[in-house]
Amino acid sequence: MCQRPTPVDLPRQAGCVSLPVLELPLANPLAAITGPRSLAAVRMLRISVTDVCNLRCLYCMPAEGVEWLPKSEVLTFEEIRAIVRAAASTGITHFKLTGGEPTARRDLPVLVEMLRRIAGVEDLSMTTNGILLGGETPLLGKLHAAGLRRITISLDSLKPERFRQITRGGDFKRVWSALHRALEMGFEKVKLNVVAMKGLNEDELADLAALTLELPITVRFIEFMPLGRSGLTDDPAAAMLTEAQIRAVIEAAHGTLVPVRRESEAGVGPAKVWSLPGAAGRLGFISAMSHPFCETCNRLRLTPDGMLRSCLFDGGEVDLKPILRDSSMRLNSQDNRTAGDGSGDLQGVEQRLLAAFSSCVTMKPETHSGHGNKAMNRIGG
Ligand code: SAM
Ligand code: SF4
Repeated sequence: MCQRPTPVDLPRQAGCVSLPVLELPLANPLAAITGPRSLAAVRMLRISVTDVCNLRCLYCMPAEGVEWLPKSEVLTFEEIRAIVRAAASTGITHFKLTGGEPTARRDLPVLVEMLRRIAGVEDLSMTTNGILLGGETPLLGKLHAAGLRRITISLDSLKPERFRQITRGGDFKRVWSALHRALEMGFEKVKLNVVAMKGLNEDELADLAALTLELPITVRFIEFMPLGRSGLTDDPAAAMLTEAQIRAVIEAAHGTLVPVRRESEAGVGPAKVWSLPGAAGRLGFISAMSHPFCETCNRLRLTPDGMLRSCLFDGGEVDLKPILRDSSMRLNSQDNRTAGDGSGDLQGVEQRLLAAFSSCVTMKPETHSGHGNKAMNRIGG
């Protein structure tokens, strides 16, 4: 059974980056926290396994001048495993691989297999642009064989030329084939992510929703979020479509949406779920801008370089690398034990990781500001 840790103060050497977003006027602040700023409320850890991407979507990255993290800064699979073990021991059950583009990380199926074996990991899914999964590549099959069962594919247009423009070079056919291969292969729940943007794919929202009439997928419409630097951040309002506007377009074409019980949808995310009348699949709305869901937020995020982030937008973060790379502790590739008689060190590392989780969750903002300094490809969406 999972035991939640007693919250403790984070030691300085754990590398806590203090971005004070929460005032805690309590003698023992952590003991009294409940709700979204309590570790007990966290269900999901989103893990960005790389900041590298093979696309440059307009809404996510600038066209040029993106600097990738040095390889030495990126967490190893063993380090990610140590963090997931600590997370699972706090009661976090759902884990999502993301990026950058997660499939751009070499040997990703090896990581999937390592994480699947961890007790307490009930759900492991991935969000991908699908480019490297389409066509005849064996990667999708290898990921499935390694234990990946749920997948979300990003697709913002059904028009190949427009898709190429939005993604700055993406091949629609490959993504479309990845979607169908995932369904044929028996992935338990296939989702499509659509960033809805004024003047860019507004006229296709009803067509994208209509995919669910025949296909047993969930199409999720995401409000554009102005994070980091991208092709749309100079004038975010010009691109922004709210949930209400997206819904209005879809309902004008297909009739009133039918509510679906959220618990019946796989995952523990913030999407509100609906369906078109008589559809095989579902629709979801992720509306962080028009309806911030900070009060019920149940997730933390891990960046490729080991920052545990409390919020997609402007919450504080804790640097886990100093904990993992402490010279007294070495993770080996077999089972994460330290070399020699390192059990004391290992326990120390686990304790410090748990303390970092407890500390990070208290940094969640009461309501996010709608801005963020870090690029989406580093945080992982
Ligand atoms: N590369 C993968 C992909 O595109 O699916 C995973 C990483 S991507 C950062 C995760 C999700 O964030 C994608 O569904 C993407 O569409 C979404 N996203 C990226 N930038 C966004 C933005 N500025 N506003 C809203 N959603 C965004
Ligand atoms: Fe790459 Fe995903 Fe960002 Fe597009 S949304 S640029 S695919 S990380």
